[in-house]
Amino acid sequence: MLDGLADPPTPSLAGRTAVVTGGYRGLGLAFARALAQAGADVVIGARDEGASRAAARLLAEETGRRVVGTALDVTRREDAERAVATAVEATGRLDVLVNNAGVCYHRPALEVPDEEFDSVFDINVKGVWLMSQVAARHFTTAGGGTIVNIGSISGQIVNRPQWQPAYNASKAAVHQLTKSLAAEWAPFGIRVNAVAPGYVRTEMAPVDEPRFRSRWIDDAPMRRAAEPEEIAPLVVFLASDASSFMTGSVVVADGGYTLF
Ligand code: NDP
Repeated sequence: MLDGLADPPTPSLAGRTAVVTGGYRGLGLAFARALAQAGADVVIGARDEGASRAAARLLAEETGRRVVGTALDVTRREDAERAVATAVEATGRLDVLVNNAGVCYHRPALEVPDEEFDSVFDINVKGVWLMSQVAARHFTTAGGGTIVNIGSISGQIVNRPQWQPAYNASKAAVHQLTKSLAAEWAPFGIRVNAVAPGYVRTEMAPVDEPRFRSRWIDDAPMRRAAEPEEIAPLVVFLASDASSFMTGSVVVADGGYTLF
């Protein structure tokens, strides 16, 4: 121990509770698992209640943490309130919200129906808004908390070869909402940050399809997509005290994709 230098905080979540939206598959499952491995109890919520419960059971067995699966549609305020209540009832607390749930449709702008545009904004933006507001109301009574929003490089660049105008705009909104809430809620001890991943192998991003290879893979400096578990440590870091001086940041993890 050097004189005058305190030990830095480690990315531990021991004794904390996290809610992960859309946490039963893809990136959300990797986040839920990494949070539990870092010591957190976790609530997984998505529209598919059975899948959420099944994933929770497996994670609880693997990590020894309390992991609960519940039905959650992030576009419904009553669902958001129930998810927060579930965390508090099951574990006595809520410290971390990971806004991971999201949808993406590939379609040229001239052909996007109103319902599809509305659905993308309802889930990707209003869902983040509702969950954040409900969780933050709890955090203000509990001395603080952290929110990690899952944005995207699509909030900064326009993807090719597929067109996804609503998704791109929704993720730009997530990044700006992150900054807005971070500024407003810092006095309450609430930190709000975002992760902006590049292409990650999940159901949403079919990274192995040959028609996407030239733009998604060959255009990237590292010439590959990520696996979900490569993004998860960043979420644990941003959720934990190890990132205690960070708020309003949008951290890109894209294998260098946005360098070109
Ligand atoms: P997936 O499609 O694999 O998973 C999405 C999850 O969100 C599912 O569990 C789904 O469950 C849930 N979800 C969708 N709508 C709702 C809703 N209304 N309420 C609650 N849960 C919902 O996607 P990914 O794992 O790839 O994506 C996770 C996040 O990462 C998204 O925000 C995405 O935009 C972002 N991202 C992904 C990238 C990638 O390359 N894969 C790159 C950059 C960002 P259910 O349908 O049962 O509700």
